[in-house]
Amino acid sequence: MIKGIKIWAVLLIVCVSTMFSACTVRSPEVSKDIFAMDTFMNIRAYGENADEAVELCVHEIERLEDLFDAQDPKSEISALNREKTMEVSIDTADIISRAREVSTITEGAFDITVYPIVKEWGFTSGEYKIPDRDAIEALLENTGQDRIVVGSAGEIPDEKEVLVQMPENYEIGLGGIAKGYASDRLMEIFRQEGIGSGIVSLGGNVAACGTKPDGKPWRVAIENPDTDKKIKALKNTEYIGVVEVSDKSVITSGGYERFFEEDGVRYHHIIDPKTGSPADSGLISVSIISEDGCLADGLSTALFVMGREKALQCWSEHKSMFDCILVESDGSVTITEGIMSCFSSEIPYEVYRQ
Ligand code: AMP
Ligand code: MG
Repeated sequence: MIKGIKIWAVLLIVCVSTMFSACTVRSPEVSKDIFAMDTFMNIRAYGENADEAVELCVHEIERLEDLFDAQDPKSEISALNREKTMEVSIDTADIISRAREVSTITEGAFDITVYPIVKEWGFTSGEYKIPDRDAIEALLENTGQDRIVVGSAGEIPDEKEVLVQMPENYEIGLGGIAKGYASDRLMEIFRQEGIGSGIVSLGGNVAACGTKPDGKPWRVAIENPDTDKKIKALKNTEYIGVVEVSDKSVITSGGYERFFEEDGVRYHHIIDPKTGSPADSGLISVSIISEDGCLADGLSTALFVMGREKALQCWSEHKSMFDCILVESDGSVTITEGIMSCFSSEIPYEVYRQ
């Protein structure tokens, strides 16, 4: 059994362009690398308050991790998984509500209640195994986000705690959305601190604040999901292409990010809530570009489950909210028309219009 590897997406192009711009613009740069939420992160800000802003961001990530980490018995999510019904912080209530929203627009492809199934496959512990079908069927009985209730009738909006109720045997995990939620909070901190130029990469989930210090958009490279370099059409490149953004998140999900292999078959960490098994939709990576990082994170996971056709249908229905880049197992690349003018690539791609 080959252990899966978590890939830290390196923002090579961003770095190169920043180094260049640093020569021409005298704006103090503060950059910090941390390991949190099970991944490597980089937080970078420019300007007078950059130092303070980056420090606040680090604290915020740690605070959210303490709340959201289902693997940590002391976290609020762990407490909720034990208690099923309890008062939780505004952040926890908020992220569960946001997860519900993503679940609704993706017709259940995003579902934080698949957590016990993710555990059963060993993706939380690294002790990978192919579970018995019976075990998966039994676990599937206790999934479905629509049965989680957030808030009670008559609740006062500025209350510090919100009641969350889950059915017996339910457990939730926020791995598919927490980094996007955190990146939105970091962008808020940047704004409060008056940062006009900054960028964060939370395990390859990128959020860009403003423009680069030289006023040009940030350039975010989209990793080639074909890490074995087997797909001819993807031309052995390191990156699928580059997307230029300001004040937007660029978030990618792919089976290549965490997987194991047994008897020559690859099993990855994104679960289809309908089957309880790794999604087999024909997509090998999905990148979402949106002003809303939390939505982008949830959608990248969900559209990966849905496959090209349903993903594009979802985009057609919500195109003001996001754009996407879809990569299929045969190497076909599709982008949606909203990012036409800010995407560049050396490999052929199709632009989906509606
Ligand atoms: P991401 O890297 O954002 O695509 O998130 C993948 C992680 O989300 C997995 O490691 C699981 O913890 C969790 N997950 C897997 N499948 C789903 C799903 N269908 N809906 C929500 N979360 C999921
Ligand atoms: Mg996600």
